[in-house]
Amino acid sequence: MEKFRRKNLNCGCCGCDFYTWEEYIDQDQDKGFGICHECQEDAEERNNEILDKSVKLIIGALNSVNSEKLKAMPLEKQRYVAAKAHEKGMFTWEIGGKR
Ligand SMILES: [Zn+2]
Repeated sequence: MEKFRRKNLNCGCCGCDFYTWEEYIDQDQDKGFGICHECQEDAEERNNEILDKSVKLIIGALNSVNSEKLKAMPLEKQRYVAAKAHEKGMFTWEIGGKR
């Protein structure tokens, strides 16, 4: 593994200067730019909100046995199931909501 090197980057989201941290994942931004910790957390929060909504949709679509199984899973596992469903294209998004 490559030795960790702290880089000083400019956040492409909020514009602040920040140093990368050990788990920092390169965001493929322009040279010298990245996404700071705070903005990454915001993005993760939004992502989790979407997943939580998806979990509710999945629970509503399952039969009672399977929906109980999903409800009994820890939150992280529920989100994982929802993320997998998204990956497999099981969700279609429509502007304006429900069909
Ligand atoms: Zn930022």
